[in-house]
Amino acid sequence: MSDCLFCKIAAGEIPSGKVYEDEVCYAFNDIAPQAPTHFLVIPKAHIASVAGISAENSTVVAHIFEVIARLTAQLGLNSYRVVSNIGEQAGQSVPHLHFHVLSGRDMTWPPG
Ligand code: C5P
Repeated sequence: MSDCLFCKIAAGEIPSGKVYEDEVCYAFNDIAPQAPTHFLVIPKAHIASVAGISAENSTVVAHIFEVIARLTAQLGLNSYRVVSNIGEQAGQSVPHLHFHVLSGRDMTWPPG
């Protein structure tokens, strides 16, 4: 999507702290980290949120979780949280599917 911030980040049109990239997804450090480790993993193809996942595009999500498992293992993280906010009330501020990966501090449940 031409006016989507995360599409532009994934395409390298807007700078980001890249953590990982392949043909399907892009991972980068969150600009406002909420934990000592906080990066986002996004599909390169535009999907607005989890609500936009369907039988036609869901393989990208399996791939993203495979990448999350690999990256966290490489970083030596054995405890972390994966979060995706859907919609304004849940805290979604960027309408392009993204999974937050947070680690390195104690976390509470339920989340605020
Ligand atoms: O779940 P939510 O939609 O609020 O997450 C968006 C995330 O994208 C925020 O944590 C924000 O800090 C991050 N962000 C970023 N780089 C930008 C714009 C937003 O890392 N240029």
